[in-house]
Amino acid sequence: MKFGGSSVADAECMKQVASLVEAAAARGALVVLSAMGKTTDGLFVAARAAERGDLDLALSTAAQLRARHEESARALFDGAIPSELRTGLAMHFDALDVLLRGVAMLRELSPRSLDAIAGTGELSSTRVFAALLRARGLDSTWFDARDALLTDRRFGQARPNVAQFKDRVQSHLSPLVCPGRAVVTQGYIGATEDGLTTTLGRGGSDYSAALFGAALRVDEVQIWTDVEGVMTCDPRQVPAARPIARLGFAEAAELAAFGAKVLHPATIQPAVEAAIPVTVRHTFRPDGRFTTITADGSSGRIVTALAARGPITVLTVTSSRMLEQSGYLARLFDVFGRLGVSVDLVTTAEVSVSLSVDADAPLDRLLAELAPIATVEVARDRAIVSVIGERLKAQPGLPARVFTTLGDIEVEMISLGANEINLSVVVRKEIVGEALTRLHRGLIEVGGDA
Ligand code: ASP
Ligand code: MG
Repeated sequence: MKFGGSSVADAECMKQVASLVEAAAARGALVVLSAMGKTTDGLFVAARAAERGDLDLALSTAAQLRARHEESARALFDGAIPSELRTGLAMHFDALDVLLRGVAMLRELSPRSLDAIAGTGELSSTRVFAALLRARGLDSTWFDARDALLTDRRFGQARPNVAQFKDRVQSHLSPLVCPGRAVVTQGYIGATEDGLTTTLGRGGSDYSAALFGAALRVDEVQIWTDVEGVMTCDPRQVPAARPIARLGFAEAAELAAFGAKVLHPATIQPAVEAAIPVTVRHTFRPDGRFTTITADGSSGRIVTALAARGPITVLTVTSSRMLEQSGYLARLFDVFGRLGVSVDLVTTAEVSVSLSVDADAPLDRLLAELAPIATVEVARDRAIVSVIGERLKAQPGLPARVFTTLGDIEVEMISLGANEINLSVVVRKEIVGEALTRLHRGLIEVGGDA
């Protein structure tokens, strides 16, 4: 069971999480927590202040974070923080102050120092939560993720050393996880072989949960958050959007790549590969709807979901030299590669190629480098609207339906993804909402529930 920052944001939230854990503990549960909401951001602010030599700001930011944890603890324990928790919190926040002083003195913040600082959030939230479970009489233990999640030395985006990690889970963690008990550990952090704290990157707790789940061979990885699962569309754009009951991993990956703000699929890959279902659930509506993601799942509907991404810029590159020329595309893409610009959609004609790039791509440099080999037309303020579904490929008439549904909305680029589960079009950015609304009504609402 992984709970994100908004699920453990304060004492009230933690009580709710505790009751969910109690209800699940009979089966045996590993609880993976994020830092209390916004704590990691605060730790980054403190670290950057120290790097600039602003020790006052660094320490006062750290003091606020410490106060927030103590305040939540007091609220949970009627003013009397258990001594074990008091000691635990003091240990992490004292270490934080020392780290910040060191960084400020050297005015140097290496990724390695930043990881040591950033880990404070998860270490502290889990201290508070584990103490709460104990006070409620649940058999529970605090487990230091760094004793099991051994990683490489890529601070800030560490990856597990798979064999060592599995060994450590077997020897240190598995024996603790058993029916009737909850083991509480940190998301986001790991350690190098020689004991230095590493982090998996921002938002890394989902990844931690999937890694631990796969290594322990759990029945299910539950990602508890503040939405009722993955939605058919962004509800701010289309109020009729609703949670998707079943989702395939490929669909989830396309959705994330094309703009849906769901969990990043790479983060749950370890669980999916181990054939463990991943569910996305609402902490404050536990009896509501939720999404189950599996390797070969699918919504059962022709169209599973819609996503939109923008603003983007469309470049149409034209050159008569493309005519019956081999190697032209290689030269063209080489320019994008050298400038580190990633291309999302590509469509080709005999003498021209249209490509979409992020709106903040370095256009001036791109255009300067492309000038010798082609003429380039630039269309700004566009967006990609994507129709995603595992069963799209089996539907010969679908493109026609998409265009009929879009009606008089002008479409500028069309791409049916190579995996045939993503049909994307480019439209002007100001009509994205209208395009999504029409597609949702015409392709999803009419289909009924899966
Ligand atoms: N606390 C970390 C972050 O805010 C990790 C996470 O929440 O997943 O990025
Ligand atoms: Mg998060």
